[in-house]
Amino acid sequence: MPASPRFRFRFAVACALLISAHCAAAWQIGNRVIIEHGALTVDHGRSVKQITAAQARGGFKADHGVGLFQNRIKTELAFAEVSPSGKRLFATTKITTAPVIYIASELPSESCAYKLVLAHELKHQDYDLEVLRAMPDEIRRFSHDVFDTDDIDRTGALNQTRARNRFFQQFNFVYQSLGDMRHPVIDSPESYRHLGSLCNGELAKYLPTPATGKAVAKRGK
Ligand SMILES: [Zn+2]
Repeated sequence: MPASPRFRFRFAVACALLISAHCAAAWQIGNRVIIEHGALTVDHGRSVKQITAAQARGGFKADHGVGLFQNRIKTELAFAEVSPSGKRLFATTKITTAPVIYIASELPSESCAYKLVLAHELKHQDYDLEVLRAMPDEIRRFSHDVFDTDDIDRTGALNQTRARNRFFQQFNFVYQSLGDMRHPVIDSPESYRHLGSLCNGELAKYLPTPATGKAVAKRGK
């Protein structure tokens, strides 16, 4: 006995739903993110000249060499399960941090300028912690893009080298971008001018006079 048209319609709808659900969730992808926060170190042993040089080597923008916040981040990616037949890919990401604040040795401990620079660099650390708190969700989201499941379906295996390269490229891009949305808030010429006006101008002698033309030229590099 042929199925009633109504039944057939229902069956067709159910199939379509199943197929789309199956296609969208064909691969189960997971990434467990563990963050191990290292204790903050305050390094008061480097000169303005050394801190300025450290800025040139990378890390966060130095505040004209009087202070610098740097977080040395180690990220490890491990594939816990890659099952082409079961369409399951599970990874673990471990982020280990080592935050350091440099304060120029020219600024005496307990001085107003020292405290001012420390407070400023601690604000950079706050921004960095905000970024790190956002990273697990970001990592889970971009894991769906960077692990090429179409390629696994085609070849039957995960190309780990390529997966790692794409993962770390995206990790660095996202970490950098989220930081770029925050740190410049306190690293503006206005902010430096304000810092220079505090502590009876104690800090001002280490800060360059803000020159708009110069700042623009620098940004262009
Ligand atoms: Zn700053």
